[in-house]
Amino acid sequence: MAYVCMHCGKEVKALEKNSTRCQYCGYRALEKKRSAIERKVSTD
Ligand SMILES: [Zn+2]
Repeated sequence: MAYVCMHCGKEVKALEKNSTRCQYCGYRALEKKRSAIERKVSTD
């Protein structure tokens, strides 16, 4: 399952459940990646 770092926003693959850390910045707060995280801006 893929996660998204809440600090740098990069996609992080959780290799171990015990140590879900961002592999880029080391931030420990990860959010589960959803199919649609970004809000689509309605174009006028
Ligand atoms: Zn990060």
